[in-house]
Order: sequence, then C-alpha cells, then structure tokens
Amino acid sequence: MKVLDQRNLPGERLSTTDEKGKRVYIFPEAVSGYYNRFRTVVQAVLIVIFLMLPWVKVAGHQALLFDVIDKKISIFGLNFWYHDAPLIFFILGILTIGLAFVTAIWGRIWCGWGCPQTVFIDGVFRRIERLVIGSHIKQKLLVRSPMNGAKFFKYSMKWFLFLLVSLLIAHSFLAYFVGAERIISMTQGDPREHWTIFLFMLFITGAILFDFGWFREQFCIIMCPYGRFQSALLDENSVNVAYDFNRGEPRKGIADNVENEGDCINCYKCVSVCPTGIDIRNGLQLECIACTACMDVCDEVMDKVDKPKGLIRYETEAGLSGNNTNFLRSRTAVYAVLLILFFSGLFFSISKREDVAYTVLRAKDSPFTIVKDSDNNDFIINHFKLHINNQSFENKTLRLGLADTALPETVQLISQNNSVDVWAGKDTTLHFFVKFPVGFISGSGVKTINIVLNDVKNKINVEKEVKLVGPKSG
Ligand code: SF4
Ligand code: SF4
Repeated sequence: MKVLDQRNLPGERLSTTDEKGKRVYIFPEAVSGYYNRFRTVVQAVLIVIFLMLPWVKVAGHQALLFDVIDKKISIFGLNFWYHDAPLIFFILGILTIGLAFVTAIWGRIWCGWGCPQTVFIDGVFRRIERLVIGSHIKQKLLVRSPMNGAKFFKYSMKWFLFLLVSLLIAHSFLAYFVGAERIISMTQGDPREHWTIFLFMLFITGAILFDFGWFREQFCIIMCPYGRFQSALLDENSVNVAYDFNRGEPRKGIADNVENEGDCINCYKCVSVCPTGIDIRNGLQLECIACTACMDVCDEVMDKVDKPKGLIRYETEAGLSGNNTNFLRSRTAVYAVLLILFFSGLFFSISKREDVAYTVLRAKDSPFTIVKDSDNNDFIINHFKLHINNQSFENKTLRLGLADTALPETVQLISQNNSVDVWAGKDTTLHFFVKFPVGFISGSGVKTINIVLNDVKNKINVEKEVKLVGPKSG
C-alpha cells in the first residue's frame, strides 16, 4: 500500500494516484482550532437531524418522505405525488439554482460543511479510526507493519464499527424513501417478505462502507458531479479557502535571505492535514473540498511564530489581488432572479393546489337532447363529464348533487352512481346528465346552475358551475 508523502507531492498528476494510476493512501493529521470546533458542532447537528427526521411527523405525515413504494412525497407538511409535475419542477429548480447561487458566492461551502460524504467521514469514520488505531502516525505505522494479532484485531474492530455505523446510516437513509414505520416493521419481519428493499438496504450499506470507509477522497476527486462543475460555477469573486500568496511567499527555504521571507515557514502542516492530499499553496484546486483544516492548522502555526492569523483563509481571488469583492454581479443577480421566480412558482402552485381538483366538461355528443316523459311533456337533457383528481394522501368518497335546493323538482341530476370513490393519488371521470323541462331555460336557451360535490368523510362541499343549454325560444 502506497502512502502519500506530503512533502513530495507530484506536480504532474493527482497526488492520490501513483505513476501507474494506482491509489496512494492519505492519513491526514487531526486538527483542532476555531473552524474545526465549529464544524464538529455543525456535523453533530446534521447527523442528529439526519437520524431523527424520519421519526418526526408534521400534520400526521413523516416530516421528510420520498416514498418510492406509494410514489408520494411529504416535505414538512406539503404533501404531493411523484407525478405532481409543477411542484417537482419548482422544487428541483430551487435546489439546483440555490446550489449554483451559494457556490457562486461562497464557493464549495456545501462540500466542506454540509455534504454527507464530508460530514460522515470527518464526523464519524475518521473518529472511529483514531479511537481504534490512534493518530495519523500510528495509522501509517500500522499499515506498514506486518500482519499480527494486534493488527488483525484493530482492523477487525475498525471495520466492525464501520459496519455498524453503515447499517444505521443505510436504515435511516431508506426510511426517507420507504417510510420509517415500514422500515421498523421490515426489520422485525422475514427478509424474504420484502426482498427488494432488503437487497437495496444491503447494497446501500455496502456502498457506504466502501465509500466512507475506504474510497473517501477518491469519490470527491473522481466521481462527484458537483465537484466537476466547480470551474463553471466559480469566478474571482467567489469565496474559497485560499492561501495568501503575496503574504506567504517567498516561503522559508526558498527566499534568498531571511529578510525577504514571506510569512509561510514551509512547515507542510497544511498539507499534512489535507484530506484530499493537496498543497493549498499551489492555488485553488479542483480537489479542495473547502474543509478548512489547513486554515485551522496554519492559524496555529502563525500563532506560534507570532504572525497574524489568516495566511490561509476564506478569501476571494479578487480579495487576494487587493481588489474589492463584488458579491452582486451578473451571475449572482441572474441566479437570484431565477430563485425568486422558482419560489414564486412554487408558492403559486401550492396556493392554487386543492386536495381534490374537479373539472366539469360538456360531453362531446350533441349539446342537448329533447325527450318526452310518460305524460308526453318535453324535457331537455345535457350530458357532462366530471373529472376528479384526488391529490391528497387519503381515499375519498364524493357525492354529487344539485347545489340549489330551491330548484324545481323537475330539474334533476342523473348519474349512474350517486357517490364515487377516488383513491388517494388517483383520478376518475364520472358521466352525469341534467334533465330539465323545456320552459326552464326559455329565452336565450342558456342557464347556469351549480352542482355540488360533497366529501362525505370530511364534510366539505365544493360547488361547480354548469351551463345548461337548449333551443332558443320567444
Ligand atoms: S501551514 Fe501555513 S506556514 Fe505551514 S506550510 Fe502551510 S501555509 Fe506555510
Ligand atoms: S486544501 Fe485545505 S480546505 Fe482544501 S481540502 Fe485541503 S485542507 Fe481542506
């Protein structure tokens, strides 16, 4: 196993691969410091939220649920279906533009502070490693030492704890997609009764174990699509973790005499703590996940050599060049406008959204039919179609009738079923007829009446207009 030599990073290729393309392993030194303390708190809060959220209910539904079995989504009381295209469109738009907006201003803040990859590796997996094996130096020594009982025990213990954590994460992750209650009942039942979910859970556990336990920075460097977009999303006004070249250079050992030396004492501490194996002093690099470790450790060094902190700090390229940082620029303005539009679209869709949507249309046959009853009186019949879309998460029984109780008895609403069942998330079409005496619409041949749809269980009445037509008279 090749281990990264932090003082001799290859300039021409990724430092985590050797000249044959094989993996070079990193054992980053642990840091303490202002940002590390702050990030530890943020990581703890995020992990608790991740584990607890499936168990929190809002308005009777799981707070955050993307149910792949029933194809329904709950987001903090907002309930809709996978096929609810406008809401999905606006929510995905907000997430995408929001990430672009945040990146344009604060750079890779998501990677360093919020990404599950960083949060779990930094907040849990590396801590387990340090607990079981020890510091980065002990980890390197153990890797190089021959296999013996102690080494076997330490690695077994480490991977056993990794497995337990991976199982917990996989179950919590699945709870967001199949529901927390289902997960509980599945874990108590026979896996053969739910093979698909069981195999999926095993796959996720394996993927977490592989990624957080072993693959780590390789995912960020090689596979993460967000990481690949960075160069397109960042510009000289985006905040990054940056080394102040003007202040630090020429670093110790490179300057021709001590008086010319910059503030960097060339201690390589910033490289030693870097989880992606880069030297931040070479400028902004795609591999940097903005974890702030190099900022903390360099501040410590600056303290010791009695120099001001912030040789490595959150800074923009413009700021490093001595110019003012411009947060309000064309790309951030465009992102902000798009965000406002997407948020407006979302709020508009939500405000217009009804649990049950009704549409009444005239049927395509002739607009009216004249019939005679048994007493030879002329009656007109109009044919309508009622489309009912149940967008709620509850099955509905709906009863159809005439709204105006003062209408003469000779005006009748006729349908095959007086009530109709519409399953949650489904739609249905009901044909109905309105029969009325010819004299009821004398004159223009048009008259508007209201029908009513009664949600039997919830005692909610919705009225809809229908336009009756017949022959003109007089
Ligand atoms: S930690 Fe600071 S002083 Fe040390 S090498 Fe890095 S930039 Fe230079
Ligand atoms: S360069 Fe600094 S901020 Fe970037 S990944 Fe390495 S330690 Fe983290």
